[in-house]
Amino acid sequence: MLKKERADYVLNKLQALYPETPIPLDHKDEYTLLIAVLLSAQCTDERVNQVTPALFALADTPQKMVKQSVESIRNIIKPCGLSPRKSAAIHRLSEILLEQHDGHVPESFSELEALPGVGHKTASVVMSQGFGHPAFPVDTHIHRLAQRWGLSKGRNVEQTEADLKKLFPEAYWNRLHLQIIYYGREYCTARGCDGTVCPMCRALYPNRKTPPKVNKA
Ligand code: SF4
Repeated sequence: MLKKERADYVLNKLQALYPETPIPLDHKDEYTLLIAVLLSAQCTDERVNQVTPALFALADTPQKMVKQSVESIRNIIKPCGLSPRKSAAIHRLSEILLEQHDGHVPESFSELEALPGVGHKTASVVMSQGFGHPAFPVDTHIHRLAQRWGLSKGRNVEQTEADLKKLFPEAYWNRLHLQIIYYGREYCTARGCDGTVCPMCRALYPNRKTPPKVNKA
């Protein structure tokens, strides 16, 4: 199969497997989504969803969040890891939203990425899932699957994002991001695989004899 044929196969297969694409992180608006995505760095969505009810009961708006001490935020979000950095970022970004954005989450990559604790991937998730703009957030899991399916040889998540955006129509980016995550969780975990156990890889590489090489992100 050519790369474009592999991309078309993946697109159709994922559409069939996951016709619905619910957002994994519980939230009620752009602000709570932004906080949940920030907390999900190096943490599972499941754990974030266990922690955010208590955090949002305390403060679910920037106005309420700035009234909390960094320490009290930190105590609640501890199970998510990196709590000193994440709590400081949540407090400071809430101040910035009030100072510079009338208390709203800005709807642009540059303004989002200027917030503390918000990198390109977090901004992409908020632009995509919060505002519905086309984006293709790539984390290490999507990077790994793109390599195993022969859709990218990127050496980092930025290269992989550029490759995937070229391969798939823009209208599918938002849902594909989620569908690849679902597939990775269900079938293709971080553990090594010989690249032949799933119908997906068998269809993409019917003659595969050796495990696919994966560049670390
Ligand atoms: S065969 Fe292995 S590498 Fe391919 S999709 Fe399945 S688990 Fe992932």
